[in-house]
Amino acid sequence: MLEISLLGATGSIGRQTLEVCAWQPQLRVLAMTGGRDWQALAKLAREYQPEMVAIADLQAYAPLREALADLPIRVEAGEDGLKQAACWPGADTVLAAISGMAGLPPLLAAIAAKKNIALANKEALVAGGALVMERAAQAGVKISPVDSEHSALWQCLAGEKTEQIAKLILTASGGAFRDLSLEELQSVTAAQALQHPNWRMGEKITIDCATMVNKGLEVIEAHWLFGVDYERIQVLIHRESIVHSMVAFQDGSIKAQLAQADMRLPIQYALLGQDRPQTSVSPPDLAALSALHFEIPDFLRFPGLAAMIEAGKRGGTAPAYLNGANEILNLAFRRGEIRFPALGQALGDLLAAYREVPADQEAVIYRADQQGREDAARLLSA
Ligand code: NDP
Repeated sequence: MLEISLLGATGSIGRQTLEVCAWQPQLRVLAMTGGRDWQALAKLAREYQPEMVAIADLQAYAPLREALADLPIRVEAGEDGLKQAACWPGADTVLAAISGMAGLPPLLAAIAAKKNIALANKEALVAGGALVMERAAQAGVKISPVDSEHSALWQCLAGEKTEQIAKLILTASGGAFRDLSLEELQSVTAAQALQHPNWRMGEKITIDCATMVNKGLEVIEAHWLFGVDYERIQVLIHRESIVHSMVAFQDGSIKAQLAQADMRLPIQYALLGQDRPQTSVSPPDLAALSALHFEIPDFLRFPGLAAMIEAGKRGGTAPAYLNGANEILNLAFRRGEIRFPALGQALGDLLAAYREVPADQEAVIYRADQQGREDAARLLSA
C-alpha cells in the first residue's frame, strides 16, 4: 500500500490522481484538501472516504462539516488545516497539487514532517526553490516530479549521471496562440486561451501556457529538481505534445520520453515510479503521426517566457516576486482587465525595476511574493 495525502484534490491534477488511485488499488488517499469548493470536496470525500479533509476557505468550514456529519471524517480548515493534511500521520507521500504560491506553506510542512513529495505545484518550487530543496535534503525526503516535462526528464535520467548532461530540452505545446502574429495577439480573449490545443488543465496553468510563462516556470523547476544551470536548459516548441522532454548527453546522444498527452501517466510514475503498473493508456501510434516538429520559441511574441527565465537566472527572490506578479496578471487577463500582449510586457517591466535579495528565509520569500502582487495590482490600476 502507498498511502497519500492529496493537496488540491478538487482540481484537474487532484481528480486525475484519484483516477490513478482507482486504477491502482495499492494507492489509498488518507487526506484531501480543497480551496473554496466545499461541495466538490464533500462529494470526493464521500466517494473516497479519506480519514480527513481540509478546506482553505474558513467560511467553507461549517457547510463542509455539515455535509460530512454522518461520516467518520475529520474536517479542518484554513492554512493550519492544509498543513494538518500535509502532515497527516500514516500518509507516506504528499501529492502537492494546489495551484499557485498558496501551496508553499503546506509543502514546507510536509517536508518538515518527512513526507515524500510528488510535486505538481510548480509555483511553490519556483518561489521557494533553494529553501525547498535544502529542507528536503535535510529531511531526507524525495521530491518526484508530476509535471509531464519533468517526469520525462526524470525518466530519461534514470541510470545516468548528472555531470554527463549536456542539455535538458523542455518541450512546449506553445499554447492556444502559438501561431498568431503580434497584431492578432492584441485582441485575443481568456475564453480563447482556455481552449488549449493538447491538454485539459486548470484555468491558471492554461493561461500560463498561452503566455508561455508556464514554460519559464518549468525552466526554473527543472533547474531546482535536477541541479542543472540555466545555460544548459533549452525550450523547444513541439506542437504534437508527444515528446514530453529530452536530455542531451555529452557524448552526442539524446534520450526522449514519448507518451500520449495524459497527465495520469506522470502522476502514476511520480507515485509508483519504476514499477510501471499497467494502465489503459496506449502508447502513441507513431506511424499515424508521421512527423514530429520542433521549433525555437519566439521570445518577442511571448515576452513573459523571457522574463520568467531571466528571473530564474537572477535568482534570490526574483522568481518569487515575478511569480506573485504573474498570479495577479494571469487573473486580471481572465477577468478581461488586461490585454494579452500587455501581460507579458508587464512581467518584463516589473522584473526590470525589481532588486532581488537572497531567498534564504521563508518570510523573505513571502514578502517578495506579496511585493510582486502589489506592484502588479498598482500597474493594473494605473
Ligand atoms: P486547478 O485550478 O484545477 O486546481 C487547483 C487546486 O488547488 C484545487 O483543488 C483548488 O481548490 C486548490 N486551491 C486553489 N487555490 C487554493 C488556495 N489558495 N489554497 C488552497 N487550495 C487552493 O489546477 P491544476 O490541477 O490544473 O494545477 C494544480 C497545480 O499543478 C498547478 O501548480 C499547476 O501548475 C500544476 N500542473 C498542472 C497540470 C495539469 O495538467 N492540470 C500539469 C502540470 C502541472 P478549489 O477547487 O476548491 O478551488
